[in-house]
Amino acid sequence: MEADEHAAVVPGAEWRSALYGDAVTQFERAAEVLDLDPEFHVRLLEPRRSLTVNFPVRLDDGEVRSFTGYRVQHTLTMGPTKGGFRYSPQVSLGECAALAMWMTWKCSLLGLPYGGAKGGVRCDPNALSLGERERLTRRYAAELIPVIGPDRDIPAPDIATGEREMAWFMDTYSQQMGHSVPEIVTGKPPVLGGMAARRAATGLGVVYVTEGVLELLGWSPAGLRVAIQGYGNVGATAARELDAIGARIVAVSDHTGGVTREAGLDLRALDAWVGRHGTVEGFPGGDALGRSEVLEVPCDVLVPAAIERQITESNAPRLACRLLVEGANGPTTPAAEAILADRGIPVVPDVLANAGGVTVSYFEWVQDQQRFQWDDIEVHERLRRTLRTALRRVTDQAQALSVDWRTAALTVAVERVAEAARLRAIYP
Ligand code: NAD
Repeated sequence: MEADEHAAVVPGAEWRSALYGDAVTQFERAAEVLDLDPEFHVRLLEPRRSLTVNFPVRLDDGEVRSFTGYRVQHTLTMGPTKGGFRYSPQVSLGECAALAMWMTWKCSLLGLPYGGAKGGVRCDPNALSLGERERLTRRYAAELIPVIGPDRDIPAPDIATGEREMAWFMDTYSQQMGHSVPEIVTGKPPVLGGMAARRAATGLGVVYVTEGVLELLGWSPAGLRVAIQGYGNVGATAARELDAIGARIVAVSDHTGGVTREAGLDLRALDAWVGRHGTVEGFPGGDALGRSEVLEVPCDVLVPAAIERQITESNAPRLACRLLVEGANGPTTPAAEAILADRGIPVVPDVLANAGGVTVSYFEWVQDQQRFQWDDIEVHERLRRTLRTALRRVTDQAQALSVDWRTAALTVAVERVAEAARLRAIYP
């Protein structure tokens, strides 16, 4: 056995991942601008609690396969924790730790009574049958019971999970409790206590925030050229809603490939194609594009809405947009962001741009606890108001501190969490 196999793990090494490095770099910048007390700096740098589980699932062919899942809770100071869970081959503890930290900042910026959490199962969701997907979801939910609860940690959809998985998750938890507990997850089907408005909330939020930014920049949405990476829950909704306010969607992509059309894609035809084929690849209403080439299509607004770390040092110099709106979590590395800043391309950060999902999740959780149904008009109006208030907080802070929008958003968020931690003080 090599000597260093017994070496102690250095502090923070548990969470090591490129994505966690990005989250820490962004946090450090905000902490520096705030001159954050070292006590809170240390306390907010690493997650408070994490759970790693390995569990068996019987596949359709009878084979039993072991899967690894995670749940990371970044801070327990602000109330219960909140964040989605995803299915992807890349899921790791470090990835969940980064995403949980970002959830803390997002909830704090929006003024929601939550700390951040994130989870996931390492698997290839496209290779699972419906039955396998259900058994995996139910077993993952059961494994999380020691750390979740409507007042402890409330999961929600993320990559490759949606209403169906939330229904199974809620049912599994409810079976264990002996009664229905709709408030254990958000993003459920409406008949189980979900909200129809939650489906489109993240993409709609991207558009509400973008509209606010366009007003600030003095740009009109009419004829605006938009390129979108990722055509799932967030990307497809953002495309539809931007199209509805007069923008032209000039390119989209998903994990298989992309399509571009300078005059604007016919989204109705594209949606029908995706409905039939499951992907945008091969759509005849435009020219074919590689899945990453979409990022370099000339446009006014680029919306990465797929996965993290897509805009890096290597492609940032070639981006041909005038504004970047982060629909995905962590799509831009800090090194890429520095290049974009030099090039004068402003970035609307993820913690603001995609906060519509967790905002409507909060409405759903409140509604479930009150056993009271809000109508869609009220939900949309509240969502719009909440996001516009957050945007104003960010732009005011950016002006006051002469910093970019991400640093402004993070300073607002970190300051609020640090203040709560200061007031609660240390137990015992
Ligand atoms: P989704 O699974 O519905 O869609 C993801 C899309 O990205 C799919 O079209 C997929 O094909 C595509 N994709 C995957 N890998 C790709 C690649 N390498 N290149 C191009 N496209 C690729 O997931 P979603 O819920 O839309 O989430 C997208 C992003 O938005 C994630 O970063 C997620 O964390 C973030 N987000 C989601 C929500 C939500 O409510 N669903 C809320 C906030 C943030």
